Amino acid sequence: MTPDRFETESRKLLRRLRDVMASEAAGQARLDMITHLIADSMGTEVCSVYLFRDEDTLELCATEGLKPEAVHKTRMRLGEGLVGRVARTGSAVNTPNAPAEPNFRYMPETGEERYSSFLGIPIQRLGQVLGVLVVQSRDARTYSADEVYGLEVVAMVIAEMTELGAFVGEEKALARLHQQSVMIKGTAAQEGAAEGHVWLHEPRVVVTNPVAEDPTRETERLHTAVERLRGDVDRMLEMAGTTDKDHRQVLETYRMFANSKGWIRRMEGDISRGLSAEAAVEKEQSEARTRMMRVADAYLRERLSDLDDLSNRLLRLLTGQGQATGAEMPGDPILIARNIGPGELLEYGRTLRGIVLEDGSVGSHAAVIARALAIPLIVHAERITTEALNGDHILVDGDRGAAHLRPDETVATAFRDKIAMQAQAQKRYSSIRHEPAVTRDGQRVTLMMNAGLMADLPSLDSSGAEGVGLFRTELQFLVRNQMPRRSELSALYARVLESAGGKRVVFRTLDIGSDKVLPYMKATDEPNPALGWRAIRVGLDKPGVLRMQLQALLRAAAGGPLTIMFPFVAQFEEYRAAKAEVDKAIEREKILGHPLPSSLEVGAMLETPSLAFAPQKFFDEVGFLSIGGNDLKQFFFAADRENERVRRRYDTLNVSFLGILEQIVRRCEESDTPLSFCGEDAGRPLEALCLAAIGLRTLSMRPASIGPVKSLLLRSDLGQVADIIAEARETGEQSVRPAILKYLRDTD
Ligand code: PEP
Ligand code: MG
Repeated sequence: MTPDRFETESRKLLRRLRDVMASEAAGQARLDMITHLIADSMGTEVCSVYLFRDEDTLELCATEGLKPEAVHKTRMRLGEGLVGRVARTGSAVNTPNAPAEPNFRYMPETGEERYSSFLGIPIQRLGQVLGVLVVQSRDARTYSADEVYGLEVVAMVIAEMTELGAFVGEEKALARLHQQSVMIKGTAAQEGAAEGHVWLHEPRVVVTNPVAEDPTRETERLHTAVERLRGDVDRMLEMAGTTDKDHRQVLETYRMFANSKGWIRRMEGDISRGLSAEAAVEKEQSEARTRMMRVADAYLRERLSDLDDLSNRLLRLLTGQGQATGAEMPGDPILIARNIGPGELLEYGRTLRGIVLEDGSVGSHAAVIARALAIPLIVHAERITTEALNGDHILVDGDRGAAHLRPDETVATAFRDKIAMQAQAQKRYSSIRHEPAVTRDGQRVTLMMNAGLMADLPSLDSSGAEGVGLFRTELQFLVRNQMPRRSELSALYARVLESAGGKRVVFRTLDIGSDKVLPYMKATDEPNPALGWRAIRVGLDKPGVLRMQLQALLRAAAGGPLTIMFPFVAQFEEYRAAKAEVDKAIEREKILGHPLPSSLEVGAMLETPSLAFAPQKFFDEVGFLSIGGNDLKQFFFAADRENERVRRRYDTLNVSFLGILEQIVRRCEESDTPLSFCGEDAGRPLEALCLAAIGLRTLSMRPASIGPVKSLLLRSDLGQVADIIAEARETGEQSVRPAILKYLRDTD
């Protein structure tokens, strides 16, 4: 056949497929007709469609040429046989001698041993394999590149039809993927349980017309949309200006793709085979996604992901779909996105019940915000954006890091019981919220809360926190597109102090670097950002921002009390230098005639083991210390707090770690230095109990943790807990956790 002839044949076949789709026929009948049409058009004896029955089982759903009795009976697991291989790898298998292939699996019920040649093409949509389309012939031949391409185009149309539910008929076995319930396992980034309905941050474009009649018109539509896309990218580049180099770089890549002749030519080729412009975009996007999953090189993956974004834009231009599709956000939205920026997340704010991200990371900005807003969050939830549809029922288990999409009733009921139990516990906590945390042996523990946004402040009252033990000022910087002005910061800090109504607020100066990179600051490419140029190191090397922030804090205090804390101080000298900046700022305010704080406390976070060994003079000089357990623990055990593989490997209640904490307590007692603990562990009841027992009498935590921690402290005896810790150490235990758990069980 000449190339033109192939195109005409392909268009004819696609037209016939479209007619089948438009017909009144039921799902199974449609599939039967399709296999018949393809076999006829390609001149093969067999054409079969296999679709996923569940996550790893493929089922023969229709066939022309194999035994009809095998339909809905023949199944194979992912990776099994040639069909399973196509599904697993997402790429075609084309062989003249199928039985000789290593993966070949003989299935007597189909009678297929008579067929020698085999061509299997994945039926995939946006990189997700939905099934496999197979043609087979008796004669031993390799299918030509044109035939493979033709079948790919057909597979694309079948994928779209599957997506649209074209095969959902009375045949239950042909379950549509998006109607099945699935459990997607990810990583817990913010605990809590939530039930609600899916709200896609960027809803997928639905292609309702994969087949088009008039290739000339479709090519024109494609060209017009590409022109608009180029215009959009140019405008974005203009807006980005010259300062934001990273952003510019991404946009330059966009521009390169938008002008890529190869990309456009491939889409034109798809159109000439009978696909509509949008189906052609999707076909190329799908293939790029499959490639993206295979490449190990992070840079290349990024570029492919840029192409993915660009394809989405092009699809939106072609279909006019997007967030403006008229879909209404459900009353109980669970946000589903590949990734989301902190600013966008803040715009949704507390309306969200839960968040599930396909990418993201525990330490991403979105996670920081979700944590601040106490919204359950799961990250690394593979395939969630392709599986979920707007309005789907979903359960988010932020404790286990699992999302149940379209759950069946038994799962939903068990989940609701869990939520009800948590709500009941919250009620109990609320009844003790104004009680001081005094243990059975009369020890008083001060419970403060961590905050970072204005939105956190109402929790001061509802949680019963005695103040803000850690105000992470970087959140205000992270959620903006440009550096906030001093006046803005000062107004915000003043509002924080006002809402705290006289309770102590410990403002931590900017803790950026490591995972917290400001979008408007030049990113430094460091091999080990957690050990790199971050927090007070940045503040001292480039003091402009630190000075501006100190001034904003002094003005916000407006003659009232003020507490300032420096993050990540690793040696005495850093504290001295930072403190000198405060003194200078005060001098300046004095000269300007501004009121000075009525009392000023300046302290440091102890987040590196080195500071625990600082000279005694440091402990004498520093106003107060707060242990940043998250960082201290990662450096103590040399285990990255963001790395899932090692994050939980070392227990906070490990006797060695408790040992360094005890030493810090002792040194602070000797110098009368107030000490607190503000890492995440302070909010875990068992950990909090042990911290209090070794002498940490001020704990700062997420507001939601105050109730559970206080409730345990009220019924505990710190003296007894301290004895158990000492005993565990004597007997050489690795962690005191088992002993404390036993003690709690016995005393309950
Ligand atoms: C810590 O390291 O424990 C801490 C409280 O600071 P952050 O989590 O913001 O690094
Ligand atoms: Mg820290």
